[in-house]
Formats: sequence, structure tokens, C-alpha cells
Amino acid sequence: MSSESALTIKLKLNNGIEAPAIALGTANPSESRPKVKETVKAAVKGGYRHIDTAWFYGTEEYIGEALAELFAEGVVKREDLFITTKVWPSNWNNPSRSIDESLKRLGLDYVDLVLQHWPLTFKADADGKPIIKDGNSVLDEDGDYLVTWKKLIELYKKDNKKIRSIGVSNYTIKYLERLLKETDVVPVVNQVELHPSLPQVDLVKFGKSKGIITEAYSPLGSGGAPLLKLPIVETLAKKYDVSGADVLVNYHVKSGRFVAPRSTNIERVTRGFKSVPLTADDLKSLDQEGIDHPHRYINPGFAKSVGYDNWGEEKPFK
Ligand code: NDP
Repeated sequence: MSSESALTIKLKLNNGIEAPAIALGTANPSESRPKVKETVKAAVKGGYRHIDTAWFYGTEEYIGEALAELFAEGVVKREDLFITTKVWPSNWNNPSRSIDESLKRLGLDYVDLVLQHWPLTFKADADGKPIIKDGNSVLDEDGDYLVTWKKLIELYKKDNKKIRSIGVSNYTIKYLERLLKETDVVPVVNQVELHPSLPQVDLVKFGKSKGIITEAYSPLGSGGAPLLKLPIVETLAKKYDVSGADVLVNYHVKSGRFVAPRSTNIERVTRGFKSVPLTADDLKSLDQEGIDHPHRYINPGFAKSVGYDNWGEEKPFK
């Protein structure tokens, strides 16, 4: 029914910069990280122009290798791509170092978007790596997560050729309200877990009212893509003769949101996603699924202090 690619859909950030709505996610489990190089190459050749990574993911160096080859082969130029990275809470007091390390690993002289990964502060060793106790990162009780945002603003204002845009991740309304009250740059994006089982209707609406675009992470429900089995997703896939993944991705782009699906399957990333003409009623039905049966898949122990509700089973975060 639909053969147009959704990969060309773009959104405009509140600083005027345009970015492709669909990003390739790269928070891979350690065993599949080396696959990220070939995945990124195949994804870009297949039409992806936005890549989502983080200082913490351990995938930046593989993305860097892929980008170097794509540039050398003349497949794309740097300015054709939108690259996002993030500052982990162990670097809460030194985002500049974190960004420089990310740029070095990526082999780039600028990133298009830097996100504060979590509104948290962790104790760190001399290299900025989190100190782990009993399997969990140790919170730095003397720290203030808003310091990271203030430092990102300073860096952005000083040198926005190195950091083209700044945003946040894992912020709730309460955290956004404080940020907006105490600082003078509105994040371009708030990247949060968001899918039909966790539609975050109030957070999305709040962001929109302030010029913050919500970006969906874990759009397939993370490892194993459990959300493909939701009956509403299967029904809509059948209705439009597309895959469940097409439905789950279009749920966001057709709502004016960013989305970062992950895959290291070369065939899938080469195929990309079709544009699906979901109606307002379809989008409402997808929201309703999570309003009735909320479930969160990303649940690291340290996130408790952010005050999330609708927790799923708590899982270690590696
Ligand atoms: P996703 O929800 O994207 O799901 C990934 C899983 O879905 C993988 O097992 C993948 O397997 C499978 N999959 C992908 N496409 C298909 C398909 N078409 N059919 C069947 N299975 C499929 O998981 P993530 O939790 O990784 O979230 C996506 C991205 O969001 C991350 O990679 C990261 O970039 C970002 N993120 C950000 C966070 C934050 O705190 N800011 C937290 C978590 C994620 P396969 O590889 O075999 O295709």
C-alpha cells in the first residue's frame, strides 16, 4: 500500500536546524557492538542520515570507523548526516571532556546534537567513568544535574560550531519545569522511552508547548522487539500492508517526533522504514494501549531517583 520511505521525513528544531526524524539507535549489548560498523555503513547506504549514540554506549569508535569509510568512498559528506551523542551522569561536572572524547572516537570535529543522558549525577573515577558498587552506579549526592545543562549551554554559546544543538534525555515534566525556570536555553529534544506501551501523553504535550520535540527511544520495546506482538500493532500492520516495525516507527514520525530504532540486522537497516499514513484515530488507538496497560522496558536501578512510574521489571544496565 505504501512504498515511500519514512527515512526522508525531517523535523525542525527550535534553533532552526532540520534533522531526519528517524535515527539509527546504537545502544548495543557488548557482544554486538563490533557489528555497529557494518550496520552504520549499510544503514547510510540504505538512506539513514541520523545516528544516535552516546559516550556511554561503547559504539562511538565503530561508528567513527564506518563514517571514515563512508566519507572516503564518497557515499555521503559530513554535512549530509546528523549525529547525536550524549553526556553520561559520571561526567556531569565535565561535559566538555565527554564531548571531546566522543568527537575523537567518532573522528568528527562537530556533533549535531549533544544530549544530557540522564538528569542524574554519578560519582566518577579520574577518567570520568562511573564508580560501581554492588552492580550499580553510585549517585553523587553533592552534585546537581542542572549543572550539566548549564555547562552545555556555556559550551553551546561559546562554540556552536562544535556542538550544533543541545538537548536532554530522560527528563520528566518536573525536571523540565526546573530547567526552564532556571536556565535560558530550551532543549531542542527530550529523548525518553516512548512507544505504544508507554505513550507519555502528558510529557509529549508539555514538551510541544515549550518547543521541545520528544524523541522516542526503545520504540520496539528494546531487545527482541516485544512490541511487534501487540495486537494493535499487528492490526495496523495488516490494515496498511506494512511491517509492525513500520507501524511502531510511524507512530512517532506521524506525530512530529523523533524516533531511534536499533538494529544490527543488515537486511533490516538496508530496507529502512516505509511511510505509513496512520490516521489520527490509529494514533489514538496506539496511545490508548499504554494508557490502559502501561509498561516500561528500560529500568536501571539508578533511575528510581528520577521518580518514574509504571515500572516494568528492574534490569541491570550494562
Ligand atoms: P529498540 O526498541 O530499538 O529494539 C531493538 C531490538 O529490536 C533489537 O533486538 C533488534 O534486533 C530488534 N529489531 C529491530 N528492528 C526489527 C524488525 N524490523 N523486526 C524485528 N526485530 C527488530 O531498542 P533500544 O532499547 O536499543 O532503543 C533504541 C535506541 O534508543 C538505542 O539503541 C539508543 O540509541 C536509544 N536509547 C536511549 C536511551 C537513553 O537513555 N537516552 C535508553 C535506551 C535506548 P536486530 O538487531 O536483530 O534487528
